[in-house]
Amino acid sequence: MSNREEKLLLVRHLVHGDPHIVLDDARCAVCTQRACLYFCPAGCFTTEDNLVQFSYEGCLECGTCRLACPEEALTWNNPLGGYGVTFRMG
Ligand code: SF4
Repeated sequence: MSNREEKLLLVRHLVHGDPHIVLDDARCAVCTQRACLYFCPAGCFTTEDNLVQFSYEGCLECGTCRLACPEEALTWNNPLGGYGVTFRMG
């Protein structure tokens, strides 16, 4: 288990069925940088068949992707009240 995986065990998520972050697939498709694969601390961005895949369930709500996506391909909202991440160690 990696150091990151160990730290992610210290957070709890109450996942709402409606994603609080939505990707615009058309904008993702033209992106050549794919910085999201590296900057997301939760590893929410992956690739499959050379396409960016995103899963909001493990999001730490840090906001990095909202600011750093070069294509501005994200619609980003806070999770509905009571849902989302809880940090158990501060
Ligand atoms: Fe990852 Fe942070 Fe974006 Fe959530 S808000 S998907 S943790 S970069």
